[in-house]
Amino acid sequence: MTHESNHFLMHFMETPLKKIAAGCLVALASYAGPAAAQGDTSWRQEYRASAPKINDLVHTKLAVSFDYDKSFMYGKAWITLEPHFYPTDSLTLDAKGMDIRKVALVKGSGTEPLKYTYDSSQLTIRLDKTYKGKERYTVYIDYVSRPNLLKAVGSAAITDARGLYFINPTGAEKDKPTQIWTQGETESNSVWFPTIDKPDQKSTEEIEMTVPSKYVTLSNGLLASQRKNADGSRTDTWKMDLPHAPYLFFMGVGDYAVVKDSYEGKDVAYYVEKDYASVARRIFGYTPEMIAFYSKTLGIDFPWAKYDQIVGRDYVSGAMENTTCTLHQESAQQNARELTDGNGWESTIAHELFHQWFGDLVTCESWSNLTMNESFANFSETLWAEHKHGKDAGDEQNYTDMQGYLQSGESNKDLVRFYYHDKEDMFDAVSYNKGGRILNMLRHYVGDTAFFRALHLYLVTNKFKTGEAQQLRLAFEEVTGQDLNWYWNQWYYGAGHPQLKIDYAYDDAAGKVTVHIQQTQTGNVFILPFSIDVYAGGNKTRNQVWMRTREASYTFPYTTHPDLVNVDGDKILLCAKSDSKTAANYIYQYKHAAGYVDRKEAIEFASKHQDDAAIRAFLLDAMHDRYKGLRIDAIDAIDFQSADMVQAALPELQKIAVNDKEALVRSKALEVLAEVKDPSYLPLFEKAVHDSSYSVAGNALNGIYNLDSAKALTLLPGLRGDAKGTLAATISKILLNSARPEDFPFILKTYEDLAPGQAKFEATSKFCQFLAQVKDLDKFKQGVDDVLKFRNVIPDSENYAFARNMISGALKNVSAKKRAAGETDFADYVDHALSK
Ligand SMILES: [Zn+2]
Repeated sequence: MTHESNHFLMHFMETPLKKIAAGCLVALASYAGPAAAQGDTSWRQEYRASAPKINDLVHTKLAVSFDYDKSFMYGKAWITLEPHFYPTDSLTLDAKGMDIRKVALVKGSGTEPLKYTYDSSQLTIRLDKTYKGKERYTVYIDYVSRPNLLKAVGSAAITDARGLYFINPTGAEKDKPTQIWTQGETESNSVWFPTIDKPDQKSTEEIEMTVPSKYVTLSNGLLASQRKNADGSRTDTWKMDLPHAPYLFFMGVGDYAVVKDSYEGKDVAYYVEKDYASVARRIFGYTPEMIAFYSKTLGIDFPWAKYDQIVGRDYVSGAMENTTCTLHQESAQQNARELTDGNGWESTIAHELFHQWFGDLVTCESWSNLTMNESFANFSETLWAEHKHGKDAGDEQNYTDMQGYLQSGESNKDLVRFYYHDKEDMFDAVSYNKGGRILNMLRHYVGDTAFFRALHLYLVTNKFKTGEAQQLRLAFEEVTGQDLNWYWNQWYYGAGHPQLKIDYAYDDAAGKVTVHIQQTQTGNVFILPFSIDVYAGGNKTRNQVWMRTREASYTFPYTTHPDLVNVDGDKILLCAKSDSKTAANYIYQYKHAAGYVDRKEAIEFASKHQDDAAIRAFLLDAMHDRYKGLRIDAIDAIDFQSADMVQAALPELQKIAVNDKEALVRSKALEVLAEVKDPSYLPLFEKAVHDSSYSVAGNALNGIYNLDSAKALTLLPGLRGDAKGTLAATISKILLNSARPEDFPFILKTYEDLAPGQAKFEATSKFCQFLAQVKDLDKFKQGVDDVLKFRNVIPDSENYAFARNMISGALKNVSAKKRAAGETDFADYVDHALSK
């Protein structure tokens, strides 16, 4: 799964934070979930044993139909099980918030009622006799699933995760399709069918779904048959012949376009809303190539009968790897102009696909071992980027993920964690980002061939079963012949990361350089194998070292004074560091060490040292880096405090704004030029404002607006039609500033469409000022609700208190203005909403 909180974090991380007040910057840059703050250790209390296996699922057969008016599902389940080892005369199933109508044992062609108790969370059934280990039996359950009543009827153990979601079921919401989709992970599928809802269970599956005939359906495995019914409905039967975990069961129903593709004779399809049928291949079209790449890399061909992807409205997470049918949130649906800036969903598509091996074929044995799912899926994003877009793109993915972990404030957690507050807490920057980096580091340590052979061995040994981190270690030890406990103990069963302080002492007289490295973190010392490259006289000498102590010094001889000593030459370590290289070292590193991170570090150094002429010249060069991400970084690094730098950069930026082949680089140049407010740029902006890229057009419009606001306003009618992204945000900013009542619907829509993050935060106070002038009470309420909705997804932790308080304060101002204007209804609504 790509988790919502992870996406939330990503949105904050990806947006530039430098334009905002310093106090706020700190608050937004250090995201920590509610239970994740470093000081809070309440999660350490309860040991989370893996679920004991008393009965094992064998086969699950369901027949379901839907009541759209009540948001109910009527279900019949035939569940085949067997005692795992010890004999038993009872069966406990998870069944959340259901109305249970009948429980029986299947005998021949009939059934025999069974005694049971039900506490709205679990169904405990007395079987007709004691069953021996592996002796199969089938129970029949007639039930009603009522996801929207969960909390009302549920026990204390039931969360508000509904498992089964009816979207706009009665069609009351205009402009929103009617859909049904399910979300099982972690243990929510037992809202819509009785099961043993644990990741260490596996079952084959058959689902008969009866739906209005205007809708298409999707589920796991293959569509075995379709039957038209006398009442105008249709019954689709989906069959999954290979066992998988209950949390990976899925149903989707809706009015979709089904765009067909294939991989080696297997069906691959994309279920999108009809408006997106024409761009579905641009969004999902790499899928067959990804399947081929991962199949080859792992030495295991795609293990399932087909692979479909579907987009769901109002989805509660980022995306979910249901076996053979991944569900994506609606951000996956991008129009042609958005795709001009690049497919923002490509890495998620890769992530969910890789889960079909790591997660679906071999499943984490318990949520404590979630790393066996999510770290691999995270790592697969690096693998795909590197394969498809080159080493720089792969390195960028891996490095950005590591930064996400380093800034997460979650470094006090072990990767494999037998203690946690809530199982949902496992879906964090440790299980995802840190785990992915650890795999990439391991790959580098053992070498590609050994690494992928070990993954292959782990998968074939444990396929259709479960895995934990120790089983991965055994596979690596078998392949490499090395003891790897040290690696697993510090990275999988330990917390934190090394913080390295690196200093150099050159002694030209003696002809030697000593590199002094200190691990300054509190807690354990890490064992670190890495290389130290010495660049002198045009040659690079690689030295392989092991650091095993808190401090260590390494001395290397030279005849010519080195231009650079480069610790961790491949920039592969999971670490934070401070490095005392000089400007000349960094410039040399950019040109000669030349990996993505080598270049990125040099640009970062340059962002803070623009009083130096050599650095300024270097930064101008870096604006033409071979990799687009670093070209953007170099432009972003321009320090507006340095008049010399700005002077030198402006002519270059004008060229880049026109000539760079990447829209996002042109857009970054325009973003900077727009802030300069030089009238001679007007023709440049006027041309670019009609670019097909939303980011180019949006920044160009901002340039025009900064020079001539009246002219920008006259352009809006022609630009508003299909505006999204940066263009929509700029239009919204202009409309907010001009505050005309007739613009409210557009402004509201744009505000709603902004992803939770920096840009939305910045737009909120303006949006509230505008709200104070809105005279239509219904529209006003909708706007207030939207602001509160945003405030409420900001993590309720100390780090974000600033942002939450700012938003509440802006709403209080709205209330005060309305009250002063005598509009009591408006003010009361805000005050009441704030008091909830
Ligand atoms: Zn995932």
